[in-house]
Amino acid sequence: MEKTSIKPRAPLGEIGPDGLIRIARVVEEFGIPVVRATAGQRLLLAGIRPGDYEAVRAALGGGEAHCPHYVQACPGRAGCSHALADGPDLGLELEALLAEMVLPAKVKAGVSSCPRSCAESLVRDLGLVGRSSGWSLYFGGNAGMKPRVGDLLAGKLSAAESLGLARRVLEFYAREGKAKERTARFVERIGLDAVREAVLQGKTKDSERSVRQAALVLA
Ligand code: SF4
Repeated sequence: MEKTSIKPRAPLGEIGPDGLIRIARVVEEFGIPVVRATAGQRLLLAGIRPGDYEAVRAALGGGEAHCPHYVQACPGRAGCSHALADGPDLGLELEALLAEMVLPAKVKAGVSSCPRSCAESLVRDLGLVGRSSGWSLYFGGNAGMKPRVGDLLAGKLSAAESLGLARRVLEFYAREGKAKERTARFVERIGLDAVREAVLQGKTKDSERSVRQAALVLA
């Protein structure tokens, strides 16, 4: 009999005591045989009987408790002496942004608070790297069967500018991407210039400034 799995939403891997208790009760009630941490800082509940799937999903909190996208972030200044920025703060805002978007495929994001890139930002669909000059934003990375290093779209960004640019790039991807097409394949198909041009045509203050900075970085 085919079994199914669920990864409850856990922004940056934070679940909290109430969430842990709820998950433990669900695991016990439905006899879920496998619970393990994933590379994306979430919990995988695997081996769910297909007939139990909807009930398990509801018991975990319904639709809001699920999100195909995720953000992994390094601990930032609170946990690492190398940090040049506050990755968790930006990561939580980015996770909330992703949770509200409808995108062609899942988006994995990595937010690293320094260029050591412990959150694997350069091989994520959306990657942010903290530097002493500000955030650098990368798009189109992937660590899967056909790995790809993400392309730098802009650097020297504030947190607000990073979020503004992330929204703009994701909206472009939502508009132009094919169903199930991950960002790496999307950039390869449509071309990096088209992505940059879409960003350059941005009308918001944030993206206009980001683009000016991108031009400096890319020059
Ligand atoms: S990316 Fe940098 S700041 Fe973040 S955990 Fe790694 S070394 Fe520390």
